[in-house]
Amino acid sequence: MYCIVLSLSFAAFFWISDIGFRRSIEATVDIASRTNLETIQRLMQRTAATGEDTLQHELTELSDVWANGALFEVADEKGKWIFRPARFAETYPPLPLVRDHNVAFFTANLDYFEYRIALQRVQVAGKTYEIHAAVPTEPFDQALDHFRLIEKEALPVLVLAASLLGYWLSGWSLAPVKRIIETAESIGAQNLSRRLEVPKARDELQRLTQTLNAMLERIENSFNKITQFTADASHDLRTPVAIMRTAAEITLRRPRTPVEYRDALSKILATSVETSELLENLLTLARADAGAIRTEMRPVDLAAHLRRAQERAAFLSADKDVDVTLEAPSIPVWVQGDAIAIDRLLLILLDNAVKYTPSGGHCEIALSRNDSHAEISVRDSGIGIAEADLKNIFDRFYRADRVRSKNSGGAGLGLAIARWITETHGGSIAVKSEIGVGSIFCVTLRALPEQHNAIDLNEIPATASPT
Ligand code: ADP
Repeated sequence: MYCIVLSLSFAAFFWISDIGFRRSIEATVDIASRTNLETIQRLMQRTAATGEDTLQHELTELSDVWANGALFEVADEKGKWIFRPARFAETYPPLPLVRDHNVAFFTANLDYFEYRIALQRVQVAGKTYEIHAAVPTEPFDQALDHFRLIEKEALPVLVLAASLLGYWLSGWSLAPVKRIIETAESIGAQNLSRRLEVPKARDELQRLTQTLNAMLERIENSFNKITQFTADASHDLRTPVAIMRTAAEITLRRPRTPVEYRDALSKILATSVETSELLENLLTLARADAGAIRTEMRPVDLAAHLRRAQERAAFLSADKDVDVTLEAPSIPVWVQGDAIAIDRLLLILLDNAVKYTPSGGHCEIALSRNDSHAEISVRDSGIGIAEADLKNIFDRFYRADRVRSKNSGGAGLGLAIARWITETHGGSIAVKSEIGVGSIFCVTLRALPEQHNAIDLNEIPATASPT
């Protein structure tokens, strides 16, 4: 394609040059014959008054000194030749006389040579004459032929040279693309950390490789997270299953008393409840990742939900001396949310607060709102989280202290779910904590305008919300 376009371009260029050259030659020849006409005219004006013989004599002399093969003839107004060289007479039939005083041009063959002839009717010493001045076009034609010859020879050479150069250039410029393809083909799950070589030239290819590398980085991170998630999930599922199996096997080894059977079954039941909670959480996150969870967004009164959550937290801390208090406005605080998801979010935060607070501690829930946002804070006087752990606690399966957390029964999925719920609601979740002092988790959600306060609170069930 490139060669075809190139050949056509060169051909078009030569064609246009040819036309231009020919036109400029014609213009040059016309100027030459016009100049000759003027010279003859001037001579005639000088000598015409002295009589026809002198005029003829002067014209003959002029014709003798005339250079470059130029010819001319002069006739009077009746068509009688005042001066006519043999060449005109022998080879050329009488010219049609021009009717006005403008210069006319035409091309004719005189004695086998081509001439450009300028014709003009002039007024000299009260008489009218017709002058024909001819200039041979051969030298100009030779120049044109020469030019065309060069064109003919240069065209294939130029096309060939430009094609070879183009071929080499395209190969050279596509070499990085080849390398990118080879590297990209070799990247798979086993070597996701490999990156494409970034070309030095600051061009589109450089941007493309940088973009692809950034994409690979993201894919690698997600892949690592999924791999880690799968490994953690299988590990966390294997442990309770092993516990249940061992408990059943040991119990069945010999006949047991009813109390022993009851103990074993209770242990199996407790572990299976824990396992089904873990499975439930895993399923939630997996469905959240797949975008398969449908949230029903409606106006939700956070104050009402927090009151219910406080009651539940009191139930959670029943076997522990942890005081749970709530400070919330007496009027509703409306946000757009999914009531079930918001209950779950509050439960996760309160469950953690109670779980990680030793007996005798306390947990404070607070709700506030400003013009645009509502903020829930859950503060506890618990064991706290180390600075180094803070940035990770929202990651799946992350437990600040694995042994300690495991003893408390957590799998490290609660806060990951809490973060997903907050983000689904367009809000944010943050934590501040100090080891041995306690932690505070803050959830910020976009509040609905105040007019929702007009809705009668008594008509609203605690977990559902008005439409
Ligand atoms: P878990 O089920 O282990 O509680 P979470 O995702 O809810 O999992 O929490 C992740 C980790 O963050 C916990 O294992 C715990 O180490 C730490 N954590 C969460 N909430 C608190 C809290 N209120 N006080 C101290 N540590 C906490």
